[in-house]
Amino acid sequence: MNATQRPPAAHHAAHAPHSATPAPTPALQRLGLHRLRALPQPAERAMHAQHDAELEQMLPVLGPLFGLGMVLFSVWDLLLDPHLARYTLALRALAVLAGSAAYFPNALCWSVQRRCTHIYVTHVGALVLCEFLLPQGLVYGLAGIAACNFAAALCTLRLPVLARMLAGPAALYVALSVWRLPWLECVSGLMQYAFAVALAVVVLLVMRVFQQKSFLLEQQLLHLSQHDSLTGACNRRYLEEVAERELALAQRHGRKLAVAMLDIDHFKQVNDQYGHETGDRVLQALVRTCHAGLREIDHFGRLGGEEFVCVLPETDREDALRCAERLRHSLSMLAIATPFGPLHFTVSVGVAVYGPGHANWPALLHDADLALYRAKHDGRNRVALAHAR
Ligand code: GH3
Ligand code: MG
Ligand code: MG
Repeated sequence: MNATQRPPAAHHAAHAPHSATPAPTPALQRLGLHRLRALPQPAERAMHAQHDAELEQMLPVLGPLFGLGMVLFSVWDLLLDPHLARYTLALRALAVLAGSAAYFPNALCWSVQRRCTHIYVTHVGALVLCEFLLPQGLVYGLAGIAACNFAAALCTLRLPVLARMLAGPAALYVALSVWRLPWLECVSGLMQYAFAVALAVVVLLVMRVFQQKSFLLEQQLLHLSQHDSLTGACNRRYLEEVAERELALAQRHGRKLAVAMLDIDHFKQVNDQYGHETGDRVLQALVRTCHAGLREIDHFGRLGGEEFVCVLPETDREDALRCAERLRHSLSMLAIATPFGPLHFTVSVGVAVYGPGHANWPALLHDADLALYRAKHDGRNRVALAHAR
């Protein structure tokens, strides 16, 4: 797609943190249950990715600890039946061995959720089998089997994933209980097990609420730290960060990159004649218009005062000039309502295109600044292209 055919910049809308959450109904809000609703797709995905990344970090420690717990459970087996305990120990050790490949990320090319499921199914499956082999094991070992449900609930924020994890060992426990236990012990055991599953679901939902709350807060803080409070454009620090990243990509992969620097013409007069508040509204209208006219992959930021910068990845000289001209024209057509009638303003734009002479972002920005200076000098309300280095 060339820079002149641009879809609306959807990511600019996503930048507004409040728009990310659907409005809760008052009843749900009163009960605090509105947080159980799924976030919009991109935010939901990001939240799960964050949770998975944390789990990924902890699994090499928590996985072996879980395995060790399974093996140490043999002491209990020893109390129930010293003769059978050696067989159950062997069974537990085998299961832990089979599941241990999933403790570490490099051994299996699986997602962290799938690795957790594998660990859970092998370890808890073996636990249920061991208890089944021991006299009254399914009765005495029920607390241990049920407690494992809570470990599973900590591994995910998604109910279907929890259901997948629990399904195998739960089916095994139910089948063996129905087969082996007298009906009273069976019913009592199944009820207690079901209660533990229900509590595990509650643990998952509560964790989800906490995670969602901290995720949204973090997003909000991130947004505040990266954006200008008056206009919502990227602030200077964040713009430099993304521009350095785009420049590194252009340098490494030979991609095209252009920069357009905008400055409002005679803005001091706007402030002087219409007041600072109207000046602020001009800045806000400029940012809205530029966001609407840029692509999703572009970055738009406020350098300071009434100076703005567009970072245009994958854009060559012609496209950058067309884009700058389109923005200049759209801005010149704006009419800001004031008590003294509509206010029109214009901008001057300096465009620079990345080339071999640009070692870093300040060098490229400097060229755009020189071009902007020329646009001002040549009479304002125009676009000027930087000389090639
Ligand atoms: P030129 O065409 O040469 O760019 O002239 P100019 O008047 O736009 O440039 P100058 O640098 O002289 O003035 C910039 C003005 O921008 C001065 C300052 O008061 C105003 N300004 C900077 N930041 C803000 C802001 O956040 N809000 C408002 N309302 N005005 C601002
Ligand atoms: Mg100015
Ligand atoms: Mg200026």
